[in-house]
Amino acid sequence: MGSAKTNNPFFEAYKNKYGAPPFDKIKNEHYIPAFKEGIKQQQAQINAIANGKNAPTFANTIAAMDYSGDLLKKVSAVFFNLYSAETNDGMAKIANEVSPILSEHNDNIYLNGKLFRRVKSLYDKRAKLGLSPEQIRLLEKIHREFVRSGAALNEGQKAKLREINKELGLAELAFGQNVLDETNSYKKFVDKEADLAGLPESVCQAAAEAAKEAGKNAGWLFTTQKASFIPVLQYSENRELRKELLLAYSTRANHDNAKDNKVVINKIMKLRTQKAQLLGFETSAAFILDDTMAKTPKAVYDFLKTVWTPALAKAKQEAAELQKLMDAEGKAEKLEPWDWWFYAEKLRKAKYDLDEEVLKPYFKLESVRQGVFDLATKLYGLKFKKLDGMPVYHKDVEVFEVINADGSLIGVLYTDYFPRAGKRAGAWMENITPQYKKDGKNYRPIICNVGNFTKPTADKPSLLTMDEVETLFHEFGHALHGLLTQCTYPSLSGTDVARDFVELPSQVMENWCWEPEVMKTYAKHYKTGEIMPKELMDKIQLAGTFNQGFINTELLSASIMDMDYHMIKDTANFDAAAFEKESLNKMGMIPQIIVRYRSTYFNHIFTGGYSAGYYSYTWAAVLDADAFCAFKETGDIYNPEKAAAFRKYILEKGDSEDPMKLYRSFRGADPNPDALLEKRGLK
Ligand SMILES: [Zn+2]
Repeated sequence: MGSAKTNNPFFEAYKNKYGAPPFDKIKNEHYIPAFKEGIKQQQAQINAIANGKNAPTFANTIAAMDYSGDLLKKVSAVFFNLYSAETNDGMAKIANEVSPILSEHNDNIYLNGKLFRRVKSLYDKRAKLGLSPEQIRLLEKIHREFVRSGAALNEGQKAKLREINKELGLAELAFGQNVLDETNSYKKFVDKEADLAGLPESVCQAAAEAAKEAGKNAGWLFTTQKASFIPVLQYSENRELRKELLLAYSTRANHDNAKDNKVVINKIMKLRTQKAQLLGFETSAAFILDDTMAKTPKAVYDFLKTVWTPALAKAKQEAAELQKLMDAEGKAEKLEPWDWWFYAEKLRKAKYDLDEEVLKPYFKLESVRQGVFDLATKLYGLKFKKLDGMPVYHKDVEVFEVINADGSLIGVLYTDYFPRAGKRAGAWMENITPQYKKDGKNYRPIICNVGNFTKPTADKPSLLTMDEVETLFHEFGHALHGLLTQCTYPSLSGTDVARDFVELPSQVMENWCWEPEVMKTYAKHYKTGEIMPKELMDKIQLAGTFNQGFINTELLSASIMDMDYHMIKDTANFDAAAFEKESLNKMGMIPQIIVRYRSTYFNHIFTGGYSAGYYSYTWAAVLDADAFCAFKETGDIYNPEKAAAFRKYILEKGDSEDPMKLYRSFRGADPNPDALLEKRGLK
């Protein structure tokens, strides 16, 4: 006996003191009933708003819409968090089942003619309604959402759009699933110790443990997870091994088999282009950029060029320098992509005598995490307290209470830092529950930081690479943006901001991470507790501009390729393989560098929300370098007035005001790209 609703945690209020989901009680069979009931409930709420007898008001239409769908938001947040961080075959099936239902539900809201008429009538007289700036912003945001979803289309066009959305949702899911499957299925076992020449002891040990976990009694296992193969690219003297792993990584989902994403891309690009054109835009890029800070494709291309041109020139110099190093070894080999990391590491050592392996003992994960906590204490007065006994979805997850200087609760932070089979690659921040205000109560958020950092081994704690340290700071910046928000409406709160603005709070944190003043607080040797010697810190500072031609060329080529994809007008004979080649040729890409993400595993643009938006990282980099300058100029990187302004205008505001306006309020001026070019040694 018992219906789907009994013993289903989603149908009860979360009893946890902080409103945290009971992860320990949630099972796969709870999702579908909760999704279905959640959709039903929200549809009823939406119908009541749309069919209301009273004249539309902000409260009975806009606010009511934004607060609707409690149950659906609850189950979606948990499901999609875990679908990224701790998935399994059962969840993949559920995702396939709910994806079309969710996109249909979304269409049922945004293609509801009666509802749109109410929204539009309010929108048309918004200046006369006596609304607060935050309310006007929400009204505009919701109105735009309707128009972009096709509310202004005729019935035939609306039906077509629904069809496209449904197919697109499935194609995007298939893309991500193929990448995950291909990443998990590749295993390179090495059984001769001689083949490990050059690899640091810690890397060999991790590979040996991975082999054991995979059921081998001996040998070493390497995979296409970054934490596994990047050290091989950096240190392995075995050129064949480097080549094999890099090619395995860079051809994922690019074999002519059932997991081939080229086919999926063809489909996605056709659908996206059709959708944009149906909504009255020439290209998908024009459609997507319409509600960003950049606004138009031309603005993005112009912007990318200001960084691409000096970056490519620098990369060519760097390639020549690395080739010289290879020539000096007398091997008569041409520099290839699988050589770049290896020789760059050698050059870095020669130039700066900076060896990641010497640095890593100072970057114990727990110390680095304490470092970002301490930084948040210095800047914003926040306090972090470890919470034991909180429900978690995996034993690696740790939970912290975040308290304001005045003792009030800011929110809760979950950290989940190690790779495993059910976790997608990369690092990210997610909202587990959102922040908003309702009926006089300020609901505080629960935020999760997820990463795929180097795992501890039997005799060593997790020791991070510089890249990982930076990533931890970065994701923590997103977490602060999610935690400190003080908005009224859920759609405006936290990181729900324009995509080319959202990376400012995260990237600005990376500026603090290598400042000697900050490093002193967290870069302590994991055995002795000794603070990193000053010479090493100085070297890190000096090495800051090293290899920046490569890094920026890798990143910007992906940004330009992303834009090129979304500028397609005619998809009749579209072919992803040929397209990628042509796009890279056109921009002048050099053969020694592989674009940061080749098309078939470019999750950001084919599954995530970064289509025609990968440029945002660089766009935000201009903002973050300029924002950090504001602190530096005062001679105090913890300057309290600047920190208070950054918190007030950026971290607390969510999307409640225009981002350019917010930035100007903080900085007192427009963002200036010089700080970035200088920081990256491109000026
Ligand atoms: Zn980010």
